[in-house]
Amino acid sequence: MTLDTFTLQSPIRTSTKQIQKSICIHRLKHIWPQLPKDIQKQFPSTLSTFTSIPLGQSTRTDTTNRFFIDEFRIYLQRKLRLPLYPPPPTTCTCGNSIDKFGDHFFTCKHHVKTALHHRMRDSMYTLCQQIMPLISDATKENIHLELPNIFDKATQLRPGDVIIKHPLNSTTEAHQTTLIDITLIAPYKAHITDTSYTGTAAIMQKHHQVQEYKKFKIRDHPPSNSTSEQLAQELITKNHRMLPFTIDHHGMLGPISSEFLLGQENATFTVSPNEYENRSTSTEVKNLITLSMHNKRHKNILTQANKAWQEAYGSKWFTNTHHAQTPRQWAKQVIGNTFSIHSAKHIIKALNKINNSTITPKKPKPMCSSINLRTPSQYTVQNLRYPIHSIV
Ligand SMILES: [Zn+2]
Repeated sequence: MTLDTFTLQSPIRTSTKQIQKSICIHRLKHIWPQLPKDIQKQFPSTLSTFTSIPLGQSTRTDTTNRFFIDEFRIYLQRKLRLPLYPPPPTTCTCGNSIDKFGDHFFTCKHHVKTALHHRMRDSMYTLCQQIMPLISDATKENIHLELPNIFDKATQLRPGDVIIKHPLNSTTEAHQTTLIDITLIAPYKAHITDTSYTGTAAIMQKHHQVQEYKKFKIRDHPPSNSTSEQLAQELITKNHRMLPFTIDHHGMLGPISSEFLLGQENATFTVSPNEYENRSTSTEVKNLITLSMHNKRHKNILTQANKAWQEAYGSKWFTNTHHAQTPRQWAKQVIGNTFSIHSAKHIIKALNKINNSTITPKKPKPMCSSINLRTPSQYTVQNLRYPIHSIV
């Protein structure tokens, strides 16, 4: 019996995972030196489990999980870090050259990522609407999409894409509102001198953390004469905390978003959370970071939701498909499918713009992946802009 057969057939699930992980790391050490530099740099991101989900875990009975053929081709090329085929044009409308993997489209200002951002925003809204009530922290009426009037003077500023208003008896105690700000971060451009996988992975995490830190520093708002410091102070006074949710061009999450969804063991803080404060230049921003990174901040909400679901409903499946039996599986699929489908759409849209529509236009699809839920009526989402197809 080979070691692979032993590990795959082992009845002890956690041990199996550990052994499989060790084998992967061992194999990676062997192949790492042979990988081209441009693949090495993106390799930690391409390992994102979220973008592995559409390859096998998702149900296609839900139409929101289906790729059109061009989308799937591009998704697969991105996941495997293969050059796009057919090859993209060499020059972009911005005048810069386009790399063979299509990374340029996640940086170029001629091809804005607004649509992809909005789909990710909707997937987080859908996720929070289902998950937060399960962990007894906020009802679905307390979860909002891009609320204005967060600030008294800068009323049109929307610092949160998804807003969770916690009840007074919240387990998190120290805050009343969490502002989740979704940010799609651009590929890391600088040269990497560290030649190991772990060193490269740490640099990628730090790249996320730089972007997370920037989100705490809200920009000045000249129309309302509000400075960054005043806006930060207003959030502190109102007991609002920020949760910068970063995701990169290959679907890798930043440490704060990983910790929020999957827990500390899945979050690598290359720079410790306390160091965010030390980097701040103003007291107000420093205090906002302190409030936001408070020890009782939300962590590992998906595992908490699994436990809550099991306690309330035993072995009943969370959805009507065996592909997503638990809240955690469902949530990961919503994020993974939405990102994978809509990042492929983003590349197709950019190529169409440059090539003058050589790829067949596709009919519009719902805003984010959903997956049929089989939940009690109290958890059925009402009034969603793009409803989940609930089959009870
Ligand atoms: Zn460009």
